[in-house]
Amino acid sequence: MTGRRTVFFGSEIYRRQGFGDNHPLAIPRVGLVIELCQALGWLPDGFEPSPPASIDELTRFHAADYIAAVQRCDGNGRAEIEDRERYNLGTRENPVFEGLFARARTSCGGSSAAAKVALAGGIGFNPAGGTHHGMPDRAHGFCYFNDPVMAILTLLEGGAEPVLYLDLDAHHGDGVELAFANDPRVATISIHEAGRWPNTGTAHGPAGSNVYNFPVPHGFNDSEINALIEGAILPIKRALRPAAVVVTCGADGLAGDPLAGMLLSNAALWSAVEAAIEAVPGAVVLGGGGYNPWTAARCWSGLWGRLNVFETNVPILETMRRRFAELSCDLIDDEDVNPVWFESLEDPPSRASVRAEVSALLENLPAPHVDSPSAQPSSFETGLWPSSR
Ligand SMILES: [Zn+2]
Repeated sequence: MTGRRTVFFGSEIYRRQGFGDNHPLAIPRVGLVIELCQALGWLPDGFEPSPPASIDELTRFHAADYIAAVQRCDGNGRAEIEDRERYNLGTRENPVFEGLFARARTSCGGSSAAAKVALAGGIGFNPAGGTHHGMPDRAHGFCYFNDPVMAILTLLEGGAEPVLYLDLDAHHGDGVELAFANDPRVATISIHEAGRWPNTGTAHGPAGSNVYNFPVPHGFNDSEINALIEGAILPIKRALRPAAVVVTCGADGLAGDPLAGMLLSNAALWSAVEAAIEAVPGAVVLGGGGYNPWTAARCWSGLWGRLNVFETNVPILETMRRRFAELSCDLIDDEDVNPVWFESLEDPPSRASVRAEVSALLENLPAPHVDSPSAQPSSFETGLWPSSR
């Protein structure tokens, strides 16, 4: 992966607390990642500002009346009862807060811009992305718009196909699956905790749909994700020969996350992302869920480190340790705050046996439907893409 151009998309907008008080996302996330990366010397030139997505860009997937409703609610500072019922806005799950529209469109614009980096042969990183539950006409699961869909659409428009979408968030990537379930140019893979909200993603899509779901048991560990990557994700990738990969790397699958029950280490997620994007011409790497401010910040900072081939087995510096000590999280009791989170960037591995429920997911895997004649876009020949595959 050395030598590839990497671009970190960020925005000052994420430093403002969104979502109102008492919401799982009312914690510092992307701002903290930027601070941590800067402390490590990993953002010497700062980040690239995410351009806000235009209304036209959003309407590639979202209904015009829904986009207008998000704007209207933000402007009014509240959702009327009709907007609540029709668009799921102004609920406890998807509150209306000041700057909501700007924030949601900025995360979408960052992912579209990251896709343009991928089209030029690089890796675009948008840790504020990964709003994979966003539906065409309603808010869903803390997501107002769907930025992974924006990234994939931008890749397709740029001639990169097929696209492989890998969702490592603890929750099923339902919005992205819905967007592309009937599109032979895109394969969607979601690894998520079984029995968790939204309780979809229990089975693969119909033959030829290129929808793959891996509902994994509570306590999902590093050995198990490695088994799925080797036994399922890489074979699908080899058969598909994607021109670009988009990864939603939610941090809520990590041990210590209050909204999920998986036990992954951050290094296992980093390795999964590396395996997914290796030797693919272009890649978009996004954040996602993640409700523990300490583990989420360490995860996405280390992910940026890995994308840049930096040494990630490094201590948390004193300045950041003090910053970490100031943080609190309503969903995590003081005694559950792990001292390891203050010591090193990398988690200790959670190696254990691969359970039968996980092995069973590797059986009878349908082969992806691949359009002939070739998965390679014509732009390979024009020199737009590096010959890295
Ligand atoms: Zn999630």
